[in-house]
Amino acid sequence: GKGDIHAEVVVLGSGPGGYTAAFRAADLGKSVVLIEKYPSLGGVCLNVGCIPSKALLHAAKVISEAEEMGENGISFGKPQIDIDELRDWKDGVVGQLTGGLKGLAKARKVQTVQGYGRFTGPNMIEVEGDEGTRTVSFDQCIIAAGSEPVKLPFIPHDDPRVVDSTGALELTEIPERMLVLGGGIIGLEMATVYDALGSKVTVVELMDQIIPGADKDIVKPLHKRIAARYEKILLKTKVTNVEAREDGLKVTFEDEKGEQSTDSFDKILVSVGRVPNGGKIDAGAAGVAVTDRGFIEVDNQQRTGASHIFAIGDVVGQPMLAHKAVHEGKVAAEVAAGHKRAFDAMVIPSVAYTDPEVAWVGVTETQAKKDGTKYAKGVFPWAASGRSLSNGRSEGITKLLFDPEDDRVIGAAIVGTNAGDLIAEVALAIEMGADAVDLGHTIHPHPTLSETVNFAAEMFEGTITDLM
Ligand code: FAD
Repeated sequence: GKGDIHAEVVVLGSGPGGYTAAFRAADLGKSVVLIEKYPSLGGVCLNVGCIPSKALLHAAKVISEAEEMGENGISFGKPQIDIDELRDWKDGVVGQLTGGLKGLAKARKVQTVQGYGRFTGPNMIEVEGDEGTRTVSFDQCIIAAGSEPVKLPFIPHDDPRVVDSTGALELTEIPERMLVLGGGIIGLEMATVYDALGSKVTVVELMDQIIPGADKDIVKPLHKRIAARYEKILLKTKVTNVEAREDGLKVTFEDEKGEQSTDSFDKILVSVGRVPNGGKIDAGAAGVAVTDRGFIEVDNQQRTGASHIFAIGDVVGQPMLAHKAVHEGKVAAEVAAGHKRAFDAMVIPSVAYTDPEVAWVGVTETQAKKDGTKYAKGVFPWAASGRSLSNGRSEGITKLLFDPEDDRVIGAAIVGTNAGDLIAEVALAIEMGADAVDLGHTIHPHPTLSETVNFAAEMFEGTITDLM
């Protein structure tokens, strides 16, 4: 039957995956309804993820660069931080983008329906909103319900001093002592922000390195820099208990030997991963299977087991990254519109926007070793990059991995300022099947950090002559 509203394509969730899919489907001539729980479009990424974190990281960078120029002949006073103004600016950046999305939706005649959507049948979603319940029927649907932060059972999450990334981005205060629980990308980005704003930061991580997905040698320069700035970085350590006391959050740590210690913090950021929202939309009613962990399985055209229903973004699996969601959103919308399209990207880059940034794409050395993949490498230390030294920084590394059979690039890892921008060149190189000579013989502008990619290829080729 028809719902209160009918659309050829209904998109559930307006994050980067969802709005991209909705816009693409509309551009391809479909009538589209976009369902979103929140009044603002953009999902996690725009509202409480990628964008606000990058705005605050920019502020952090300005502060730490100003501090560090003290060693090079320029001293500024101690930064005066007006946290309300900083928050307003960050919210303004978000507002500009989410407002822009609203305009883009309108221009395409994508109808947005605000409320929480659940499937009630193979072609029907019921949306519970402020103005009551409406039904939306569809020919095809794209699920883009995203993910949310993992909660831990032994942590008093309802205490206002315990926050997730969303709470940390709200920037309600600058705590004196802050514990970042989980040394992954999100935790370390927020640690970077609060450290620059003046908090004493401790990071605790279960694994034997921070950013466990990245190679150890690449993470090392970041580790070294933050170890000097933060109060503590605890590796191979788990938090076993948190007690909310009036005078602070009392945390029990357990190291690898099983030895316990306690410490007290003013704020705890819990950043131990994200869980997909697949289990919360009654997907079964539409014949869409959801795994125990809440993921929705899809084929390479983003189709779920129900062939008229697609799923994209965080809800379909790792890596939970906005650019992956966007790419999948385009694939799903094009397939829904009858185009021949499939997800066939060879690589998805990952970036930690810490200081220095850590970025990698394709095969990592750790993974290659684990899988027994044969590789050769070219490594260029930025201590020999004129541009890096001119930026007052020498700790970067650019590492390229090659297939030893044909010298094609199979992976790269970069640590250093702007590593996230630099990794895009290698992603293109991998997608195009470029080899070491292609990267080594391409004239890169001098002096730029992009030259480090060129130099790493030349290091592999053995053709590098002079540096800087
Ligand atoms: P989401 O962005 O999660 O959006 C899902 C939307 O669906 C939400 O708006 C939600 O309200 C809505 N929704 C869910 N269920 C329903 C329902 N039943 N009814 C109605 N609406 C519903 N990624 C990067 O690539 N780069 C970064 O720099 C980066 N930084 C990040 C920083 C932080 C602090 C966090 C938390 C994440 C970051 N990410 C980053 C990850 C990125 O935000 C996600 O990968 C991305 O947002 C996933 O997009 P999505 O479209 O799958 O879903």
